[in-house]
Amino acid sequence: MKILKIDHIGIAVISIDTSANFWSDVLGLGITGQETVEEQKVTTAFLPVGDSEVELLESTSPEGPVAKYIEKKGEGMQHIAFRVENIDECLLELKEKGIKLIDQVPRIGAGGARIAFLHPKATHGVLVELCEREGD
Ligand code: ZN
Repeated sequence: MKILKIDHIGIAVISIDTSANFWSDVLGLGITGQETVEEQKVTTAFLPVGDSEVELLESTSPEGPVAKYIEKKGEGMQHIAFRVENIDECLLELKEKGIKLIDQVPRIGAGGARIAFLHPKATHGVLVELCEREGD
């Protein structure tokens, strides 16, 4: 498995607009793109930090995974995403090692990245996302 870097850190927020008061106005991070991923019932905003990014996640529905997360744990860090060279190889290797996966095959996430989530039960409580982007 080849992990290249921390691609982004996902943060669950009630409102991207409201939380931008802190992330943009106070910390000075710029929002480069905002996108709704209907399938995941989420709107995402990316704020580059050096070679990585902060991803703000706002639910588009009370039934979405981000809304459920906030209901249980409140706003805060929701997942960490590692950029990998080859996500198919990674998933194969993880399956061979008996690691429980949420996504058996990659799906398309924000920005057109191919992504897959590992189950937090297999990662000592951290929701881990693997992410492969075009041009790596
Ligand atoms: Zn993410």
